[in-house]
Amino acid sequence: MTSLQFPEYNDVVAAAQRIEGYANRTPVLTSRTVNDAFSAEVFFKCENYQRMGAFKFRGAMNALSQFTPEQRAAGVVTFSSGNHAQAIALAAKLLNIPATIVMPHDAPAAKVAATKGYGGNVVVYNRYTEDREQIGRDLATKHGLTLIPPYDHPHVIAGQGTAAKELIEEVGPLDVLYVCLGGGGLLSGSALAARHLSPECRIYGVEPEAGNDGQQSFRSGNIVHIDTPKTIADGAQTQHLGQYTFPLIQKHVDDILTVSDQELIDSMIFFAERMKMVVEPTGCLGFAAARANKERLRGKRVGVIISGGNVDISRYSEFLAG
Ligand SMILES: *Cc1c(COP(=O)(O)O)cnc(C)c1O
Repeated sequence: MTSLQFPEYNDVVAAAQRIEGYANRTPVLTSRTVNDAFSAEVFFKCENYQRMGAFKFRGAMNALSQFTPEQRAAGVVTFSSGNHAQAIALAAKLLNIPATIVMPHDAPAAKVAATKGYGGNVVVYNRYTEDREQIGRDLATKHGLTLIPPYDHPHVIAGQGTAAKELIEEVGPLDVLYVCLGGGGLLSGSALAARHLSPECRIYGVEPEAGNDGQQSFRSGNIVHIDTPKTIADGAQTQHLGQYTFPLIQKHVDDILTVSDQELIDSMIFFAERMKMVVEPTGCLGFAAARANKERLRGKRVGVIISGGNVDISRYSEFLAG
């Protein structure tokens, strides 16, 4: 077995330098309503205002900017339910690298259109019957493309960690940090940054109830695989954590929590109504968990990463209608 090269905090620092000037330094927002309701100070890191609408641009840009000239010429391939696809397509366009994206047939129309709009070559598969990882690997072998997966890659993880690094550098040490969890790229990267910059911080990953493979894995000590979960949090429909993300999560994260789809909708409505902000269902995971645990947050400094804001506007209005 080859030994894995795990990313460290230094890699997050290097990633921050690589993506500077390309990625947005997203705003940290606060809400008096939330602070009063929680009797706490809550800081929202708004990656819904990142380029292409989610934090995934950070990891994609960090990974692609480390390609050799040969890799750049041949191109990149990836598989994704949406935001990573757009992130790779945009980063590839900025760096002049051809991009092939394997996407599920039922991915949100807005995400497919945006990926094509950035110049990505989209290959469609059925997410309930076909194996996207195999399709991606086959394309990589056949055409000499470099596969950059959505979360289980050291460069992707280090890139995602830059969001938490910016948050803590801006507002100071935190007592608690809530991070949305799919395959764990954002959570493991955020944990590297938070453990270094705010060592006492309690770090929680948050998953949809229907797809709690991460919680099962964390509590059992082995990577648990599940069927594609049915949840409105389409960015967290992953079936398992990764060989890089799981050990990092085991080492640095305090626990993994779950929230229901209804709690995601309640948070989405809150963001729209009170903070005038469009957040996609998956982006609401962290705040939904914070709300459910607000009694325990009294007097604390709380970070919440809002991971993205890409949602079909017609679906969004259905969510808001309740
Ligand atoms: C991908 C994604 C997630 C989950 O990130 P992982 O790194 O897979 O855990 C959460 N929210 C949004 C908006 C995403 O696009």
